[in-house]
Amino acid sequence: MIPALMPNYARIDLAFERGEGAYLFGSDGRRYLDFAAGIAVTALGHCHPHLVTKLKDQIDKVWHVSNLYRVPQQEELAQRLVDATFADTVFFCNSGAEANECGIKMIRRYHHDAGQPERNRLITIEGAFHGRTLATISAGGQSKYLEGFSPRVDGFDQVAWGNLNELRAAIGPHTAGIIVEPVQGEGGIRPASLEYLRQLRAIADEFGLLLMFDEIQCGVGRTGKLFAYEWAGIAPDVMAVAKGIGGGFPVGATLATERAAKGMKPGTHGTTFGGNPLAMTAANAVLDVLLEPGFLDGVDRIGRLLWRELLDLQARHPTVIQEVRGAGLMLGLKCGGVTNTDLQTAARAEGLITVTAGDNVVRLLPPLIIGEDHVAEAIASLDRAAAAITPPLQ
Ligand SMILES: *Cc1c(COP(=O)(O)O)cnc(C)c1O
Repeated sequence: MIPALMPNYARIDLAFERGEGAYLFGSDGRRYLDFAAGIAVTALGHCHPHLVTKLKDQIDKVWHVSNLYRVPQQEELAQRLVDATFADTVFFCNSGAEANECGIKMIRRYHHDAGQPERNRLITIEGAFHGRTLATISAGGQSKYLEGFSPRVDGFDQVAWGNLNELRAAIGPHTAGIIVEPVQGEGGIRPASLEYLRQLRAIADEFGLLLMFDEIQCGVGRTGKLFAYEWAGIAPDVMAVAKGIGGGFPVGATLATERAAKGMKPGTHGTTFGGNPLAMTAANAVLDVLLEPGFLDGVDRIGRLLWRELLDLQARHPTVIQEVRGAGLMLGLKCGGVTNTDLQTAARAEGLITVTAGDNVVRLLPPLIIGEDHVAEAIASLDRAAAAITPPLQ
């Protein structure tokens, strides 16, 4: 019999009663160090005092008014994001997939309004993940998410990761833009080289395409800059943001330049829930902390420490961990000889929560507030976990 809760997840048999900072307290009575943060969502850890105070205050005022009225918290958050990024304008929604949908529609609309409606195809990158809606599974192009959901939404042409020749060859009279994750998340923590990102910018300019970055996972401070594109010294035309921006409250945002968004007039796009006062209060509170002087430098510093410690860990357990990769506090352990689920399960038994990704990778996505003690604790757990599952010598 089908369970009352639709069985579309293979859930781990563990629930949490409470969270505090980087720790989760399980209903099994154990304390866990949370190096998953949901999936890069609780950017400031659990129950951050500033977020709790701000949300409690807003809860007593007003929750929802729709987008038929002004929402001052939206105007404030939009202005702050505009001030802090390449963008001139922001649309708020509730999730990553929705943020991508808005970006995809915006790019089509841009060419439509420029008198070239035939330019409606986006180039996407192999290994990508852009969400679970019909358009975004099509954009991601991964068969495991597409199977059984035909027909595919048309308008996406996929090319190999990092291959600029193939990308150039895929550009035709119907090409409208390029969508890429600066650091692929679900695909297995694959960071694009900064030169690749710069070349994508140059190619987009050469062919009159709009460049869209999906920073839903790698954005919001995760790489040690507010957004990952900053490392490359270039900027996209459109950017999708979600996950960490709400600190655990569902928030998505599509950021764009004035030029890219010029077709988004009243009535072109919308959302019922998006940008509600609670969500905006949560996101404004996240930004308060992220933009405090020195906070992102701290993320960068602790990310580098974790990176060095993971390289040492790999040297101690070469038959379990094949490679360490990623950026900032978005790091991946590529497993060899064992599955990523083996390592994830063993780490959990040692009190550390991680999350798996494609390409047999275990992802480490700790909250951005971790300190050196948390790094030491995570490494100790991973050391014991890796030792416990080391395959026997052949
Ligand atoms: C999680 C994720 C999405 C989808 O976000 P949802 O909030 O689940 O819709 C899209 N793109 C990337 C890069 C993601 O990591």
